[in-house]
Amino acid sequence: MSNRVAHYLQEHLLGEVVYSSDARSYFSTDGSILRLVPSLIVYPRNENDIRKTARFAWQLAERGRIIPLTARGAGTNQTGSAIGNGIIIAFTAHMNRILELNTKNKSLAIEPGINYGKLQQVLHTHGFFLPPYPPDLDYVTIGGAIASNVVGEKSFRYGSTKSFTKELRVVLANGEVIKTKKLSKRELSKKLGLATFEGEIYRSIDTLIEENRQIIDTMQRSTTINSAGYNLYDVKQKDGSFDLTPLIVGSEGTLGIISEAQLDIEFYDPESLIIKAEFDSLEKLQQALNAINESKNLPVSIELVDKQALEQIYEINPNHLKGLINDPLPSFVVIIEYEGAKKLSKSIVRILDNFTRSFETTTDIQEQINFRKIRESVNMITAHNDALLHSLPLFDGAVPIDRAREYLEGIYRIVNDNNLKTAIWGHIGDGNLTMQPKLNLGQVGDRQKIFRLFNEYYQLILSLNGTVSALNGDGRLRTPYLESMYGQEAYRLFAKVKQIFDPYNILNPGVKFNTSIEDLKGIIRQEFSLNHLYDHLPRS
Ligand SMILES: Cc1cc2nc3c(=O)[nH]c(=O)nc-3n(C[C@H](O)[C@H](O)[C@H](O)COP(=O)(O)OP(=O)(O)OC[C@H]3O[C@@H](n4cnc5c(N)ncnc54)[C@H](O)[C@@H]3O)c2cc1C
Repeated sequence: MSNRVAHYLQEHLLGEVVYSSDARSYFSTDGSILRLVPSLIVYPRNENDIRKTARFAWQLAERGRIIPLTARGAGTNQTGSAIGNGIIIAFTAHMNRILELNTKNKSLAIEPGINYGKLQQVLHTHGFFLPPYPPDLDYVTIGGAIASNVVGEKSFRYGSTKSFTKELRVVLANGEVIKTKKLSKRELSKKLGLATFEGEIYRSIDTLIEENRQIIDTMQRSTTINSAGYNLYDVKQKDGSFDLTPLIVGSEGTLGIISEAQLDIEFYDPESLIIKAEFDSLEKLQQALNAINESKNLPVSIELVDKQALEQIYEINPNHLKGLINDPLPSFVVIIEYEGAKKLSKSIVRILDNFTRSFETTTDIQEQINFRKIRESVNMITAHNDALLHSLPLFDGAVPIDRAREYLEGIYRIVNDNNLKTAIWGHIGDGNLTMQPKLNLGQVGDRQKIFRLFNEYYQLILSLNGTVSALNGDGRLRTPYLESMYGQEAYRLFAKVKQIFDPYNILNPGVKFNTSIEDLKGIIRQEFSLNHLYDHLPRS
């Protein structure tokens, strides 16, 4: 189909339409272990190009022909949500501008394809920053971050991307454009009266919420971060105010395509106090986390690297962390940051004295770089491969923080039972851990092992009241497990939301719905690589 559709679209769009085999191959992978070859790529120059592409797909769908549309930022998503077998709408080429920076209101308007790292640099020069930045910010786009509800190290204090996303312009499946923002009861009534697709969406979502409040209440998790499913919980408040924005944040391009976003920003304080704490016991680690969490003065981030990760870093380069970790290697190193602090409070010193094997603190910039390097050095693991053996991005759920110990014990059980070589790190302040086992996707045995591991891992996560999708996206790899996390009734509501926004299933189909484990087996890559990123590696 590529040629005729591409020629037709090129005639109507300002941006380029490309269907060369090189381009299709490049866009067939993202940061995940999956592969799907698109039929063509559209590089929109403006919102109108997105509208026309969506309108075209909608009109074809009305005649029974579905061409999927997958929005794409930098393609770093690790769960297979930035790939698709239809049209890829690639944002980084043109729609990458800052539209407005309002330092008085602490707000920012941007196009979705802007690079997160570059935007952050601009904000820093004005004394601001966007707090929920992910460690790989130099690669990712803000559009991708919003659509995945990204969390980063400072989400412990500031929350996830949803807390900073105030307004969105969204191209709907039929090509109409809506602006989402918090609406008063009166503004909502106006929307409910519209005779457009927008009006239909407001009416249907409002009714769905009113009729299913009890089920929606069960969707709240006790984890501090969660990107699984759709965030119906935050759409309608008790005072009658209504906002579709939280529904679009984290929707992975399955409900609409973001063409513009307005975000809140924060003052940036480059002065920090950083603690490097070494632990030898899981029990003491949990006690320290509980005590820090209950303390008056919360840090901005609490990050963990385990011993197996340290061993792998030493194996790859024995000199990389030279002098930074004491001998023998501790079971865990935890890096804790207090923004704007000059010295530690007595209560935190007491906690560290009681529970760590040793700890050091610093406010010196050079030493901070060294402390941070410990956490950032896990990028050596993610980027390193030994022929086809690669550390695979498979597991990164989160649990309530008071269950971190059980989470780690469970992970080590899975690692031992399955004889895995793995490394563990994560935003432990949010109960999040990333586990990347070394496997060879070229071997049938290892590919089969992945699905056995998924079963064991998700059973563990769910038994601890955790979330299957805390970061790295809520894409195809998570889809088969969503229903068991939320239960049948809640999942049925998610499917209704999708049906309301996208009745023909054009927008990123296969993400959040209709991907079984068998489907995944059919699209798993034979090799894994993060070569999109090798020019400049991410921090973790
Ligand atoms: C080494 C590494 C570390 C990572 N660490 C973290 C981490 O700590 N926390 C975390 O949350 N994530 C993490 N990630 C995952 C990833 O970086 C984030 O999900 C990232 O924000 C995705 O941005 P992107 O521009 O690459 O989006 P893509 O991967 O291109 O897309 C992500 C999703 O957004 C959708 N999308 C993109 N643009 C739009 C748009 N304009 N409108 C609608 N939908 C759109 C896509 O369809 C897709 O579903 C990590 C990834 C890597 C490779």
